[in-house]
Amino acid sequence: MLPLVALVGRPNVGKSTLFNALTRTRDALVHDEPGVTRDRNYGICRLDEARPFVLVDTGGIAADEAGLAGATARQSRAAAEEADLVLFVVDGREGPSALDDEILRWLRKASRPTLLVVNKSDGIDVRAALAEFSRYGFSDVLAVSSAHRQGVDELVDEVLARVPEVGATETLDDDPDRVRIAFVGRPNVGKSTLVNRILGEERMIASDVPGTTRDSIAVDLERDGRKYRLIDTAGLRRKARVEEAVEKFSIVKTLQAIEQCQVAVIMLDANEGVTDQDASVLGAVLDAGRALVVAVNKWDGQSDYQREQTEALLSRKLSFVQWAEAVRISAKHGSGLRELFKAIHRAHASATKVLGTAEVTKALEIAYETNPPPVVRGHVPKLRYAHAGGDNPPTIIVHGTRLRMLPDSYKRYLENFFRKRFKLVGTPVRFVFKEGE
Ligand code: GDP
Ligand code: GDP
Repeated sequence: MLPLVALVGRPNVGKSTLFNALTRTRDALVHDEPGVTRDRNYGICRLDEARPFVLVDTGGIAADEAGLAGATARQSRAAAEEADLVLFVVDGREGPSALDDEILRWLRKASRPTLLVVNKSDGIDVRAALAEFSRYGFSDVLAVSSAHRQGVDELVDEVLARVPEVGATETLDDDPDRVRIAFVGRPNVGKSTLVNRILGEERMIASDVPGTTRDSIAVDLERDGRKYRLIDTAGLRRKARVEEAVEKFSIVKTLQAIEQCQVAVIMLDANEGVTDQDASVLGAVLDAGRALVVAVNKWDGQSDYQREQTEALLSRKLSFVQWAEAVRISAKHGSGLRELFKAIHRAHASATKVLGTAEVTKALEIAYETNPPPVVRGHVPKLRYAHAGGDNPPTIIVHGTRLRMLPDSYKRYLENFFRKRFKLVGTPVRFVFKEGE
Protein backbone atom coordinates (compact mmCIF):
# COMPACT_ATOMS: atom_id res chain seq x y z
CA MET A 1 0.00 0.00 0.00
CA LEU A 2 1.30 3.43 -0.91
CA PRO A 3 1.25 6.03 1.84
CA LEU A 4 -1.67 8.44 1.72
CA VAL A 5 -1.01 12.15 2.15
CA ALA A 6 -3.84 14.68 2.38
CA LEU A 7 -3.71 18.39 1.56
CA VAL A 8 -5.95 20.29 3.93
CA GLY A 9 -6.59 24.02 4.00
CA ARG A 10 -9.11 26.75 3.41
CA PRO A 11 -9.91 27.88 -0.15
CA ASN A 12 -7.33 29.98 -2.02
CA VAL A 13 -4.27 29.11 0.00
CA GLY A 14 -2.84 27.31 -3.02
CA LYS A 15 -3.73 23.66 -2.44
CA SER A 16 -4.44 22.86 -6.05
CA THR A 17 -1.32 24.71 -7.18
CA LEU A 18 0.69 22.63 -4.73
CA PHE A 19 -1.16 19.50 -5.78
CA ASN A 20 -0.18 20.12 -9.40
CA ALA A 21 3.43 20.86 -8.48
CA LEU A 22 3.60 17.54 -6.64
CA THR A 23 1.76 15.32 -9.10
CA ARG A 24 2.49 16.86 -12.47
CA THR A 25 3.21 13.98 -14.77
CA ARG A 26 6.60 13.79 -16.38
CA ASP A 27 4.91 12.77 -19.55
CA ALA A 28 3.91 16.00 -21.22
CA LEU A 29 2.40 14.11 -24.13
CA VAL A 30 -0.07 12.34 -21.91
CA HIS A 31 -0.74 15.54 -20.09
CA ASP A 32 -1.95 17.33 -23.20
CA GLU A 33 -4.15 14.55 -24.53
CA PRO A 34 -7.77 15.52 -24.82
CA GLY A 35 -10.01 12.98 -23.19
CA VAL A 36 -7.92 12.59 -20.06
CA THR A 37 -9.54 14.59 -17.31
CA ARG A 38 -6.91 16.56 -15.50
CA ASP A 39 -9.34 18.06 -13.12
CA ARG A 40 -8.64 15.52 -10.42
CA ASN A 41 -8.25 15.93 -6.73
CA TYR A 42 -6.18 12.82 -6.20
CA GLY A 43 -2.97 11.68 -7.83
CA ILE A 44 0.37 10.10 -7.23
CA CYS A 45 3.47 12.08 -6.38
CA ARG A 46 6.52 10.59 -8.06
CA LEU A 47 9.06 13.33 -7.53
CA ASP A 48 11.07 10.69 -5.70
CA GLU A 49 10.69 7.85 -8.17
CA ALA A 50 11.63 5.18 -5.68
CA ARG A 51 8.96 6.21 -3.18
CA PRO A 52 5.69 7.34 -4.70
CA PHE A 53 2.77 8.32 -2.49
CA VAL A 54 -0.91 9.01 -3.05
CA LEU A 55 -1.90 12.64 -2.67
CA VAL A 56 -5.47 13.81 -2.07
CA ASP A 57 -6.47 17.43 -2.34
CA THR A 58 -9.30 17.66 0.16
CA GLY A 59 -11.29 20.59 -1.08
CA GLY A 60 -13.70 21.61 1.58
CA ILE A 61 -13.14 20.43 5.09
CA ALA A 62 -14.66 23.62 6.39
CA ALA A 63 -17.42 23.64 3.78
CA ASP A 64 -21.09 23.81 4.55
CA GLU A 65 -22.58 20.54 5.72
CA ALA A 66 -25.61 20.76 3.46
CA GLY A 67 -26.08 19.19 0.05
CA LEU A 68 -23.22 18.47 -2.27
CA ALA A 69 -20.75 20.58 -0.37
CA GLY A 70 -21.55 18.48 2.66
CA ALA A 71 -20.72 15.29 0.80
CA THR A 72 -17.44 16.79 -0.35
CA ALA A 73 -16.62 17.85 3.17
CA ARG A 74 -17.34 14.35 4.46
CA GLN A 75 -15.09 12.81 1.82
CA SER A 76 -12.39 15.30 2.63
CA ARG A 77 -12.61 14.45 6.29
CA ALA A 78 -12.53 10.75 5.55
CA ALA A 79 -9.41 11.29 3.43
CA ALA A 80 -7.70 13.32 6.13
CA GLU A 81 -8.69 10.86 8.84
CA GLU A 82 -7.17 7.97 6.94
CA ALA A 83 -4.06 9.82 5.84
CA ASP A 84 -0.62 8.81 6.98
CA LEU A 85 0.27 12.48 6.92
CA VAL A 86 -1.71 15.69 6.64
CA LEU A 87 -0.23 18.75 4.98
CA PHE A 88 -2.00 21.72 6.52
CA VAL A 89 -1.61 24.45 3.90
CA VAL A 90 -1.87 28.10 4.90
CA ASP A 91 -1.29 31.41 3.13
CA GLY A 92 1.98 33.09 4.16
CA ARG A 93 0.88 36.45 2.75
CA GLU A 94 -2.38 36.71 4.57
CA GLY A 95 -1.36 35.09 7.83
CA PRO A 96 -3.69 33.05 10.06
CA SER A 97 -7.41 33.51 9.55
CA ALA A 98 -10.53 32.46 11.44
CA LEU A 99 -11.07 29.66 8.95
CA ASP A 100 -7.51 28.41 9.50
CA ASP A 101 -8.23 28.36 13.23
CA GLU A 102 -11.34 26.31 12.62
CA ILE A 103 -9.49 23.78 10.49
CA LEU A 104 -6.78 23.60 13.11
CA ARG A 105 -9.34 22.66 15.77
CA TRP A 106 -10.67 19.95 13.53
CA LEU A 107 -7.17 18.64 12.77
CA ARG A 108 -6.34 18.42 16.47
CA LYS A 109 -9.38 16.20 16.95
CA ALA A 110 -8.42 14.03 13.99
CA SER A 111 -4.92 13.78 15.47
CA ARG A 112 -3.09 12.65 12.37
CA PRO A 113 0.60 13.46 11.97
CA THR A 114 0.59 16.95 10.46
CA LEU A 115 3.09 19.22 8.75
CA LEU A 116 2.32 22.92 8.49
CA VAL A 117 3.01 24.21 4.98
CA VAL A 118 3.23 27.99 4.68
CA ASN A 119 2.58 28.66 1.02
CA LYS A 120 3.05 31.80 -1.13
CA SER A 121 6.36 32.48 0.58
CA ASP A 122 7.77 34.02 -2.58
CA GLY A 123 8.76 37.68 -2.29
CA ILE A 124 7.78 38.05 1.37
CA ASP A 125 9.61 38.12 4.69
CA VAL A 126 9.50 34.38 5.34
CA ARG A 127 10.63 34.64 8.94
CA ALA A 128 7.87 37.07 9.81
CA ALA A 129 5.32 34.85 8.07
CA LEU A 130 6.46 31.79 9.98
CA ALA A 131 6.36 33.75 13.23
CA GLU A 132 2.72 34.61 12.63
CA PHE A 133 1.86 30.93 12.55
CA SER A 134 4.01 30.00 15.53
CA ARG A 135 0.99 30.20 17.83
CA TYR A 136 -0.39 27.14 16.02
CA GLY A 137 2.29 25.22 17.86
CA PHE A 138 3.59 23.03 15.06
CA SER A 139 7.13 21.79 15.37
CA ASP A 140 7.14 20.77 11.73
CA VAL A 141 6.80 23.85 9.56
CA LEU A 142 7.94 24.41 6.01
CA ALA A 143 7.77 27.52 3.82
CA VAL A 144 7.14 26.90 0.14
CA SER A 145 6.06 28.67 -2.99
CA SER A 146 3.97 26.25 -4.99
CA ALA A 147 3.56 28.66 -7.87
CA HIS A 148 7.33 28.95 -8.27
CA ARG A 149 8.15 25.39 -7.22
CA GLN A 150 10.33 26.69 -4.41
CA GLY A 151 10.71 24.29 -1.52
CA VAL A 152 8.71 21.59 -3.28
CA ASP A 153 11.55 19.05 -3.39
CA GLU A 154 12.33 19.75 0.25
CA LEU A 155 8.67 19.23 1.05
CA VAL A 156 8.77 15.82 -0.63
CA ASP A 157 11.82 14.91 1.47
CA GLU A 158 9.99 15.97 4.61
CA VAL A 159 6.92 13.97 3.62
CA LEU A 160 8.95 10.84 2.90
CA ALA A 161 10.70 11.14 6.23
CA ARG A 162 7.31 11.01 7.92
CA VAL A 163 5.36 8.31 6.10
CA PRO A 164 5.92 4.60 6.51
CA GLU A 165 8.30 3.07 4.05
CA VAL A 166 6.34 0.42 2.23
CA GLY A 167 7.63 -2.73 0.76
CA ALA A 168 4.27 -3.77 -0.62
CA THR A 169 5.39 -3.68 -4.21
CA GLU A 170 8.48 -5.74 -3.45
CA THR A 171 6.58 -8.45 -1.63
CA LEU A 172 4.08 -8.63 -4.46
CA ASP A 173 6.92 -8.76 -6.94
CA ASP A 174 8.42 -12.07 -5.89
CA ASP A 175 7.54 -14.31 -8.82
CA PRO A 176 8.70 -12.90 -12.15
CA ASP A 177 6.47 -15.32 -14.07
CA ARG A 178 3.33 -14.16 -12.36
CA VAL A 179 1.55 -11.31 -14.11
CA ARG A 180 0.05 -8.82 -11.71
CA ILE A 181 -3.27 -7.50 -12.96
CA ALA A 182 -5.80 -5.10 -11.52
CA PHE A 183 -9.40 -4.73 -12.68
CA VAL A 184 -10.22 -1.09 -12.27
CA GLY A 185 -13.21 1.06 -13.07
CA ARG A 186 -15.93 3.06 -11.47
CA PRO A 187 -18.64 1.42 -9.36
CA ASN A 188 -21.21 -0.79 -11.15
CA VAL A 189 -19.30 -1.54 -14.34
CA GLY A 190 -19.16 -5.20 -13.28
CA LYS A 191 -15.79 -5.70 -11.59
CA SER A 192 -17.10 -7.99 -8.83
CA THR A 193 -19.12 -10.01 -11.30
CA LEU A 194 -16.04 -10.50 -13.46
CA VAL A 195 -13.71 -11.38 -10.62
CA ASN A 196 -16.20 -13.83 -9.15
CA ARG A 197 -16.68 -15.40 -12.53
CA ILE A 198 -12.93 -15.78 -13.00
CA LEU A 199 -12.36 -17.12 -9.51
CA GLY A 200 -15.42 -19.34 -9.71
CA GLU A 201 -14.10 -21.02 -12.78
CA GLU A 202 -10.70 -21.41 -11.24
CA ARG A 203 -11.71 -22.12 -7.68
CA MET A 204 -9.46 -25.15 -7.41
CA ILE A 205 -6.24 -23.25 -7.97
CA ALA A 206 -7.08 -19.79 -6.72
CA SER A 207 -5.71 -18.98 -3.32
CA ASP A 208 -5.58 -15.96 -1.10
CA VAL A 209 -2.15 -14.48 -0.93
CA PRO A 210 -0.96 -14.79 2.66
CA GLY A 211 -0.16 -11.63 4.54
CA THR A 212 -2.73 -9.54 2.74
CA THR A 213 -4.88 -7.55 5.07
CA ARG A 214 -8.40 -6.29 4.87
CA ASP A 215 -7.24 -3.34 2.85
CA SER A 216 -4.88 -5.07 0.52
CA ILE A 217 -6.24 -8.23 -0.94
CA ALA A 218 -4.62 -10.22 -3.65
CA VAL A 219 -5.49 -13.58 -5.12
CA ASP A 220 -3.29 -15.88 -7.16
CA LEU A 221 -4.67 -17.94 -9.98
CA GLU A 222 -3.66 -19.92 -13.03
CA ARG A 223 -5.38 -19.84 -16.35
CA ASP A 224 -4.43 -21.64 -19.54
CA GLY A 225 -1.10 -22.54 -17.98
CA ARG A 226 -0.24 -18.97 -17.04
CA LYS A 227 0.09 -17.50 -13.58
CA TYR A 228 -1.62 -14.32 -12.49
CA ARG A 229 -2.08 -12.31 -9.36
CA LEU A 230 -5.23 -10.23 -9.02
CA ILE A 231 -4.32 -7.10 -7.11
CA ASP A 232 -6.59 -5.39 -4.63
CA THR A 233 -9.66 -4.34 -6.52
CA ALA A 234 -13.11 -3.62 -5.25
CA GLY A 235 -14.20 -6.87 -6.84
CA LEU A 236 -12.15 -8.92 -4.44
CA ARG A 237 -13.81 -7.49 -1.41
CA ARG A 238 -17.14 -8.69 -0.20
CA LYS A 239 -20.01 -6.61 -1.44
CA ALA A 240 -21.01 -5.16 1.92
CA ARG A 241 -17.54 -3.87 2.37
CA VAL A 242 -17.43 -2.46 -1.12
CA GLU A 243 -20.46 -0.36 -0.43
CA GLU A 244 -18.84 1.04 2.67
CA ALA A 245 -15.74 1.69 0.67
CA VAL A 246 -17.52 3.63 -2.05
CA GLU A 247 -18.29 6.48 0.30
CA LYS A 248 -14.69 6.37 1.39
CA PHE A 249 -13.25 7.42 -1.98
CA SER A 250 -12.45 4.00 -3.36
CA ILE A 251 -10.41 5.98 -5.86
CA VAL A 252 -7.45 5.90 -3.48
CA LYS A 253 -7.65 2.10 -3.47
CA THR A 254 -7.84 2.19 -7.24
CA LEU A 255 -4.70 4.29 -7.45
CA GLN A 256 -2.87 1.91 -5.17
CA ALA A 257 -3.97 -1.11 -7.18
CA ILE A 258 -2.79 0.59 -10.37
CA GLU A 259 0.55 1.28 -8.75
CA GLN A 260 1.00 -2.37 -7.77
CA CYS A 261 -0.11 -4.01 -11.00
CA GLN A 262 1.70 -4.58 -14.26
CA VAL A 263 -1.39 -4.67 -16.44
CA ALA A 264 -4.42 -2.55 -15.60
CA VAL A 265 -7.70 -3.76 -17.06
CA ILE A 266 -10.09 -0.85 -17.12
CA MET A 267 -13.69 -1.94 -17.24
CA LEU A 268 -16.32 0.11 -19.01
CA ASP A 269 -20.06 -0.38 -19.19
CA ALA A 270 -21.10 -0.73 -22.84
CA ASN A 271 -24.39 0.99 -22.05
CA GLU A 272 -22.71 4.09 -20.72
CA GLY A 273 -19.71 4.62 -22.96
CA VAL A 274 -16.77 6.50 -21.48
CA THR A 275 -17.81 8.76 -18.62
CA ASP A 276 -15.66 11.44 -16.99
CA GLN A 277 -15.00 9.09 -14.12
CA ASP A 278 -13.78 6.41 -16.56
CA ALA A 279 -11.50 8.95 -18.25
CA SER A 280 -10.14 9.89 -14.88
CA VAL A 281 -9.23 6.29 -14.00
CA LEU A 282 -7.73 5.94 -17.46
CA GLY A 283 -5.63 9.04 -16.81
CA ALA A 284 -4.31 7.46 -13.61
CA VAL A 285 -3.26 4.33 -15.52
CA LEU A 286 -1.44 6.45 -18.09
CA ASP A 287 0.26 8.52 -15.41
CA ALA A 288 1.54 5.34 -13.84
CA GLY A 289 2.82 4.10 -17.20
CA ARG A 290 1.03 0.78 -16.84
CA ALA A 291 0.12 -1.61 -19.61
CA LEU A 292 -3.57 -1.29 -20.37
CA VAL A 293 -6.43 -3.43 -21.63
CA VAL A 294 -9.93 -2.04 -22.03
CA ALA A 295 -12.72 -4.47 -21.16
CA VAL A 296 -16.07 -3.32 -22.48
CA ASN A 297 -18.52 -5.15 -20.27
CA LYS A 298 -22.26 -5.87 -20.50
CA TRP A 299 -21.93 -6.53 -24.20
CA ASP A 300 -24.72 -9.08 -23.80
CA GLY A 301 -27.33 -6.41 -23.16
CA GLN A 302 -26.73 -4.63 -26.46
CA SER A 303 -28.75 -4.89 -29.65
CA ASP A 304 -26.92 -4.99 -32.98
CA TYR A 305 -27.76 -1.35 -33.55
CA GLN A 306 -26.51 -0.38 -30.10
CA ARG A 307 -23.32 -2.32 -30.65
CA GLU A 308 -22.58 -0.31 -33.77
CA GLN A 309 -23.20 2.92 -31.89
CA THR A 310 -21.06 1.79 -28.99
CA GLU A 311 -18.18 0.80 -31.27
CA ALA A 312 -18.21 4.20 -32.93
CA LEU A 313 -18.39 6.01 -29.62
CA LEU A 314 -15.56 4.00 -28.09
CA SER A 315 -13.20 4.44 -31.00
CA ARG A 316 -13.77 8.18 -30.82
CA LYS A 317 -13.48 8.52 -27.06
CA LEU A 318 -10.52 6.17 -26.76
CA SER A 319 -8.59 7.51 -29.75
CA PHE A 320 -5.85 8.80 -27.45
CA VAL A 321 -5.13 5.25 -26.29
CA GLN A 322 -5.41 3.63 -29.68
CA TRP A 323 -2.53 1.37 -28.74
CA ALA A 324 -4.63 -0.37 -26.09
CA GLU A 325 -6.70 -3.39 -27.07
CA ALA A 326 -10.40 -3.21 -26.33
CA VAL A 327 -12.13 -6.52 -25.66
CA ARG A 328 -15.91 -6.95 -25.56
CA ILE A 329 -17.00 -9.11 -22.70
CA SER A 330 -19.94 -10.20 -20.65
CA ALA A 331 -18.91 -10.84 -17.09
CA LYS A 332 -22.40 -12.14 -16.44
CA HIS A 333 -22.24 -14.85 -19.10
CA GLY A 334 -18.50 -15.33 -19.05
CA SER A 335 -18.06 -14.54 -22.71
CA GLY A 336 -14.94 -12.88 -24.08
CA LEU A 337 -12.78 -13.92 -21.14
CA ARG A 338 -10.41 -15.98 -23.22
CA GLU A 339 -9.82 -12.98 -25.49
CA LEU A 340 -9.43 -10.77 -22.47
CA PHE A 341 -6.65 -12.89 -21.00
CA LYS A 342 -4.93 -13.11 -24.37
CA ALA A 343 -4.92 -9.32 -24.56
CA ILE A 344 -3.59 -9.10 -21.01
CA HIS A 345 -0.82 -11.46 -21.97
CA ARG A 346 0.08 -9.47 -25.09
CA ALA A 347 0.13 -6.21 -23.16
CA HIS A 348 2.38 -7.70 -20.50
CA ALA A 349 4.73 -9.19 -23.10
CA SER A 350 5.03 -5.80 -24.81
CA ALA A 351 5.51 -3.91 -21.57
CA THR A 352 8.36 -6.15 -20.50
CA LYS A 353 10.00 -6.59 -23.89
CA VAL A 354 13.76 -6.06 -23.82
CA LEU A 355 14.88 -3.80 -26.67
CA GLY A 356 18.49 -4.06 -27.85
CA THR A 357 20.59 -0.92 -28.26
CA ALA A 358 21.58 -1.71 -31.84
CA GLU A 359 17.94 -2.19 -32.89
CA VAL A 360 16.82 0.93 -31.09
CA THR A 361 19.49 3.12 -32.69
CA LYS A 362 18.74 1.60 -36.08
CA ALA A 363 15.05 2.34 -35.62
CA LEU A 364 15.82 5.96 -34.74
CA GLU A 365 17.98 6.31 -37.87
CA ILE A 366 15.23 5.04 -40.09
CA ALA A 367 12.57 7.16 -38.39
CA TYR A 368 14.80 10.22 -38.78
CA GLU A 369 15.63 9.58 -42.42
CA THR A 370 12.06 8.82 -43.40
CA ASN A 371 10.75 11.94 -41.77
CA PRO A 372 13.22 14.46 -40.30
CA PRO A 373 11.99 16.92 -37.66
CA PRO A 374 10.71 20.24 -38.97
CA VAL A 375 12.72 23.46 -38.88
CA VAL A 376 11.71 25.51 -35.85
CA ARG A 377 12.69 29.20 -35.91
CA GLY A 378 15.59 28.50 -38.24
CA HIS A 379 16.90 25.54 -36.26
CA VAL A 380 16.60 21.84 -36.88
CA PRO A 381 16.64 19.52 -33.88
CA LYS A 382 19.17 16.71 -34.39
CA LEU A 383 18.56 13.17 -33.22
CA ARG A 384 21.90 11.40 -32.83
CA TYR A 385 21.37 8.01 -31.27
CA ALA A 386 19.05 6.14 -28.95
CA HIS A 387 19.12 3.28 -26.50
CA ALA A 388 16.68 1.44 -24.31
CA GLY A 389 16.23 2.85 -20.83
CA GLY A 390 14.26 0.08 -19.20
CA ASP A 391 10.95 -1.67 -19.47
CA ASN A 392 7.50 -1.55 -17.94
CA PRO A 393 6.85 0.66 -19.77
CA PRO A 394 9.42 0.37 -22.54
CA THR A 395 11.55 3.50 -22.38
CA ILE A 396 13.62 4.92 -25.22
CA ILE A 397 16.35 7.43 -24.46
CA VAL A 398 17.11 9.69 -27.39
CA HIS A 399 20.28 11.78 -27.50
CA GLY A 400 20.66 14.82 -29.72
CA THR A 401 20.66 18.59 -29.87
CA ARG A 402 17.88 21.19 -29.72
CA LEU A 403 15.55 18.43 -28.65
CA ARG A 404 13.45 20.87 -26.72
CA MET A 405 12.28 22.19 -30.07
CA LEU A 406 10.80 18.87 -31.11
CA PRO A 407 7.10 19.48 -31.62
CA ASP A 408 4.65 17.13 -29.92
CA SER A 409 3.48 15.93 -33.30
CA TYR A 410 7.01 14.70 -34.00
CA LYS A 411 7.21 12.96 -30.66
CA ARG A 412 3.97 11.21 -31.52
CA TYR A 413 5.40 10.22 -34.86
CA LEU A 414 8.43 8.68 -33.11
CA GLU A 415 6.21 6.87 -30.65
CA ASN A 416 4.06 5.38 -33.40
CA PHE A 417 7.10 4.46 -35.43
CA PHE A 418 8.72 2.56 -32.54
CA ARG A 419 5.44 1.00 -31.58
CA LYS A 420 5.01 -0.45 -35.06
CA ARG A 421 8.59 -1.51 -35.51
CA PHE A 422 8.85 -3.33 -32.19
CA LYS A 423 5.25 -4.56 -32.30
CA LEU A 424 4.36 -3.00 -28.97
CA VAL A 425 0.68 -3.30 -28.11
CA GLY A 426 -1.16 -2.48 -24.96
CA THR A 427 1.65 -0.56 -23.32
CA PRO A 428 2.64 3.09 -23.20
CA VAL A 429 6.07 3.83 -24.67
CA ARG A 430 8.08 6.47 -22.90
CA PHE A 431 10.62 8.72 -24.58
CA VAL A 432 13.30 10.59 -22.69
CA PHE A 433 15.14 13.27 -24.67
CA LYS A 434 18.71 14.05 -23.61
CA GLU A 435 20.52 17.10 -24.83
CA GLY A 436 24.15 16.63 -25.88
CA GLU A 437 26.44 14.21 -27.67
P1 GDP B 1 -6.83 26.38 -3.45
O1 GDP B 1 -8.20 26.98 -3.48
O2 GDP B 1 -6.31 26.22 -2.05
O3 GDP B 1 -6.72 25.11 -4.24
O4 GDP B 1 -5.85 27.48 -4.10
P2 GDP B 1 -5.28 27.61 -5.60
O5 GDP B 1 -4.22 26.61 -5.85
O6 GDP B 1 -6.43 27.64 -6.54
O7 GDP B 1 -4.57 29.03 -5.52
C1 GDP B 1 -5.26 30.21 -5.18
C2 GDP B 1 -4.52 31.41 -5.74
O8 GDP B 1 -3.23 31.55 -5.12
C3 GDP B 1 -4.25 31.31 -7.22
O9 GDP B 1 -4.45 32.55 -7.81
C4 GDP B 1 -2.79 30.91 -7.30
O10 GDP B 1 -2.18 31.37 -8.49
C5 GDP B 1 -2.20 31.59 -6.08
N1 GDP B 1 -1.02 30.89 -5.58
C6 GDP B 1 -0.92 29.56 -5.31
N2 GDP B 1 0.30 29.25 -4.86
C7 GDP B 1 1.01 30.41 -4.83
C8 GDP B 1 2.35 30.75 -4.45
O11 GDP B 1 3.18 29.91 -4.06
N3 GDP B 1 2.71 32.05 -4.55
C9 GDP B 1 1.86 33.01 -4.98
N4 GDP B 1 2.31 34.25 -5.05
N5 GDP B 1 0.58 32.73 -5.36
C10 GDP B 1 0.16 31.45 -5.29
P1 GDP C 1 -18.81 -3.41 -9.61
O1 GDP C 1 -19.37 -2.33 -8.72
O2 GDP C 1 -17.94 -2.81 -10.69
O3 GDP C 1 -18.11 -4.49 -8.88
O4 GDP C 1 -20.06 -4.02 -10.40
P2 GDP C 1 -20.90 -5.36 -10.11
O5 GDP C 1 -20.10 -6.55 -10.46
O6 GDP C 1 -21.43 -5.28 -8.73
O7 GDP C 1 -22.06 -5.21 -11.19
C1 GDP C 1 -22.98 -4.15 -11.18
C2 GDP C 1 -24.28 -4.58 -11.84
O8 GDP C 1 -24.05 -4.90 -13.22
C3 GDP C 1 -24.86 -5.84 -11.22
O9 GDP C 1 -26.25 -5.68 -11.18
C4 GDP C 1 -24.47 -6.94 -12.21
O10 GDP C 1 -25.38 -8.01 -12.20
C5 GDP C 1 -24.50 -6.21 -13.53
N1 GDP C 1 -23.57 -6.82 -14.51
C6 GDP C 1 -22.27 -7.13 -14.29
N2 GDP C 1 -21.74 -7.69 -15.41
C7 GDP C 1 -22.72 -7.72 -16.34
C8 GDP C 1 -22.79 -8.19 -17.70
O11 GDP C 1 -21.83 -8.69 -18.26
N3 GDP C 1 -23.98 -8.05 -18.33
C9 GDP C 1 -25.06 -7.50 -17.72
N4 GDP C 1 -26.18 -7.40 -18.44
N5 GDP C 1 -25.05 -7.07 -16.46
C10 GDP C 1 -23.89 -7.18 -15.76
